[in-house]
Amino acid sequence: MSNLIADDPIADNQVADDQIAKSTTDVVSGSDSRDPHTINADLHCHSFYSDGTLAPAALVQRARANGVQLMALTDHDELGGLAEAAEAAADLGVRFVPGVEVSVSWGGETLHIVGLGIDPGAPDLIAGLTGVRSGRDARAREMGAQLAAVGHPGAYEGAAALAGNAGLVSRTHFARWLVERGACDDVRAVFLKYLVPGRPGYVPHHWSRLTEAVGWIRAAGGVAVLAHPARYRVGELALTTMIEEFRTAGGEAIEVASGSHTRDQVRRFARIALAEGLEASRGSDFHSPIESHADLGYAPVLPDSVVPVWHRW
Ligand code: AMP
Ligand code: MN
Ligand code: MN
Ligand code: MN
Repeated sequence: MSNLIADDPIADNQVADDQIAKSTTDVVSGSDSRDPHTINADLHCHSFYSDGTLAPAALVQRARANGVQLMALTDHDELGGLAEAAEAAADLGVRFVPGVEVSVSWGGETLHIVGLGIDPGAPDLIAGLTGVRSGRDARAREMGAQLAAVGHPGAYEGAAALAGNAGLVSRTHFARWLVERGACDDVRAVFLKYLVPGRPGYVPHHWSRLTEAVGWIRAAGGVAVLAHPARYRVGELALTTMIEEFRTAGGEAIEVASGSHTRDQVRRFARIALAEGLEASRGSDFHSPIESHADLGYAPVLPDSVVPVWHRW
């Protein structure tokens, strides 16, 4: 949470740089309200309907306090928090875009596709997400069994008790439970020790297919965004193939500015967005005040060269 400690929460972005020309201060106080680059948009975050710790309304309040003008709630595989978030946003004068983050299995990797501007009542999307969620409980029970075998009995029950949504017990909830139990100092350390491929609590899982996930989002009237592209453990060639398949399926944007991206990664994916004709998104991927890389509204700033996906809203 270095972003929260500094007086200027995006101190990392203060160094003059011709690719990333604006600071968040510029974004918030931009004088041309028609230029989407001058809007503080945060189009990726989580409530306790998935693996965030805050209620949707608390998330909106925090976003507003941080200067966010346009926000999307994008819970994993779940639309349950959207109505509450939309209501809070209307009360507080924050522009709101309904969203979701869909889990996808692709070439042995898990990808996340953010859907923005979706209709939460769209039947294909609802059915698709119900299917994606349906495998989670069996996976979580298997994770519990594996963690019991390495000295942590009761992990399934513990993680489930921490989940705000019984249908959405995630690795994050296991990580929080293991931290509470004293197994590691923080969530990040738990992932490295237990919850990533090759570790004793990791259970491979089949989510949805890339083409399906993008199709559900489009059928719901939304825009599909390839989330936090720097996080995938793939080489240059596989990344090119991934983006090609994403575009062919109807994907239209890439998350150039994620709370988990370095400035070099922002530049790299801005170049890719331009080369591929994709619009660019920005999102903190905020989950919790004590766990997240970036607070709401404090993802890196989009370079001027790319087209912000939120020109649509
Ligand atoms: P799941 O959908 O159950 O596989 O959980 C995935 C979630 O775990 C992601 O959405 C992140 O919130 C979190 N996560 C994944 N990898 C890490 C990591 N290395 N450190 C901290 N959190 C992580
Ligand atoms: Mn998450
Ligand atoms: Mn994600
Ligand atoms: Mn996310």
